[in-house]
Amino acid sequence: MKIGFIGLGNMGGPMAANLAKAGHEVIGFDRVQVSIEGVALAGSGAEAAAGADVVITMLPNGEILRAVADEVVPAMAAGATLVDCSTVDVDSARAVADQANSAGLRFVDAPVSGGIGGASAGTLTFMAGGTTDAFATAEPLFTIMGQKAVHCGDAGAGQAAKICNNMILGVTMIGTCEAFALADKLGLDRQKMFDVVSTSSGYSWTMNAYCPAPGVGPQSPADNDYRPGFAAELMLKDLRLSQQAATSADADTPMGQLAEALYARFVEDEDGQGKDFSAMLPRFVSRRRG
Ligand code: NAD
Repeated sequence: MKIGFIGLGNMGGPMAANLAKAGHEVIGFDRVQVSIEGVALAGSGAEAAAGADVVITMLPNGEILRAVADEVVPAMAAGATLVDCSTVDVDSARAVADQANSAGLRFVDAPVSGGIGGASAGTLTFMAGGTTDAFATAEPLFTIMGQKAVHCGDAGAGQAAKICNNMILGVTMIGTCEAFALADKLGLDRQKMFDVVSTSSGYSWTMNAYCPAPGVGPQSPADNDYRPGFAAELMLKDLRLSQQAATSADADTPMGQLAEALYARFVEDEDGQGKDFSAMLPRFVSRRRG
């Protein structure tokens, strides 16, 4: 396939490289200078999109996605497919889907889970929204860039799945961290706490696979001085998207709301910026009951 790839940052760069390595013709564009193995560079998004069978975007947010779509959609050939892999708000995903469909294009929103390591290794999980036809066109590319792709429903369903998953993740990480901080104050050994909880009803991915206590459980960012991993500010971005969606859908999400407020305080007022999202544990340990 001829693939246009717009947004060649931490995630997009290795994803584009994997598509090129698999034998696809990839023409990339980023607003900053980059060099990606096997990827030819265009002078603009429109140039990368012209004549492509599929255009993939991997951009920071919904506002930038909308601006890029305004430029790219008119440049794409009728019948081509636009695949947005960025994490953006559901409303932006649906607006760009409408814009693409009106121009005779197919659209898939396909945010990912798996981080920079998964992007390099080609082991991402894609959660996709769009028509069956659009998903079928994009699926072979998901298989190259990832290990699993779930077709979640119509346009926007991929973004909905992503923010619901990450709302659970943020809430669970906070619960795991505050429980460790309480255990400390009760004189309970952290390893014993892990041994019990990881095999009891309090188990979770944040406890069992990504334990926030250094030296306990499998290797995680806690063992690397809380260097990310998944940075607290990215968790804040996703929690904000979840609360924006909850407001727009009139959904009651009190735990998600509290998680957003706690991560906002951590990132903006408490030096959490640039730390892994599991660094909530030392934060709780250093505080007294408020
Ligand atoms: P990044 O900032 O490294 O990459 C974004 C790229 O987009 C940058 O290179 C930037 O120059 C480029 N860009 C911005 N505006 C542009 C424009 N108008 N035209 C062309 N290029 C433009 O971010 P990232 O870590 O690669 O994340 C990309 C997306 O993936 C985000 O939506 C993020 O939430 C999501 N995501 C990231 C991770 C992660 O661990 N980094 C995990 C899952 C999902």
